Amino acid sequence: MALLRERDGRRLHVKSKLMGESLVGKTFLEGLTIAPQQRLFPDVNVVKIGGQSICDRGVKALPALVKEIAACKKDHKMLLTTGGGTRSRHIYSIGLELGMPTGIIAKFGSSVSEQNALLVSTLLSSFGGIKIGHDEVIKLSTYFAQDCLPVMHGMPPYDYFALPTSKSRLPVHRTDVGTLILANLIGAKSCILIKDEQGLYTDDPKKNAKATFIPEISVADLLAKDLDDLIIERPCLEILQNSEVIDRIQIINGLEAGNLTKALRGEHVGTIIYRK
Ligand code: ADP
Ligand code: MG
Repeated sequence: MALLRERDGRRLHVKSKLMGESLVGKTFLEGLTIAPQQRLFPDVNVVKIGGQSICDRGVKALPALVKEIAACKKDHKMLLTTGGGTRSRHIYSIGLELGMPTGIIAKFGSSVSEQNALLVSTLLSSFGGIKIGHDEVIKLSTYFAQDCLPVMHGMPPYDYFALPTSKSRLPVHRTDVGTLILANLIGAKSCILIKDEQGLYTDDPKKNAKATFIPEISVADLLAKDLDDLIIERPCLEILQNSEVIDRIQIINGLEAGNLTKALRGEHVGTIIYRK
């Protein structure tokens, strides 16, 4: 790129398409041509193990799932992430009662989802399970070359800088969001969220017996429905909508043996939320 000196000779610029732009100009950004996003690890499946829905059930859910993950490992590369669950909710509610800002609440959430990453990686240790940090994501090929099963905490590292929102002071970007952003970052083969229900319903099936199952839905249709409650964190919908490399999220029931295996094979189990 060419170097340019300003007319008064004081400043030196590196010539680029972005030179002198505010980077917020609508017309400018719409007209900007950029390369399509590279898929860094297109053969890796990003799989979240739910906090409240799976990890918190301990021995009732994890050993069977760990066995299935270990069996899937020979055919599928997986990057596992973990949610926080009930312990996050406990510290969130104490923090909120005490007037803590969003950034402190988010930091609490990170440490709890990290506990679950340690829990899951320890359970998987004899199958290559290894707990990794966010910075290690770019070294995934090394872990797979060494037959490892990387496990990362799902909370995105916004921590003290978590976006404050007007309503509840709860961080809106939690472990579903972190998992989807990770899948988008690496251009993953799939993004699978393991929870404790068949998938998405019209309402929380634990609270509303009339809720009906939605096997598949486009993200635009789901946004338009504006459901009162969802099985995934709301910002996931917009992130999926804007993704260049991820075209679906699959939500499956991890309490039912075989679902993860089927999802990794590309079969339709649970709910698929897709981008048109
Ligand atoms: P995770 O353990 O991955 O963090 P959550 O417990 O946060 O998962 O979210 C999963 C739960 O969301 C389900 O167990 C279900 O009770 C609830 N839920 C709320 N709304 C819905 C919905 N529309 N469809 C299905 N489940 C829902
Ligand atoms: Mg959750």
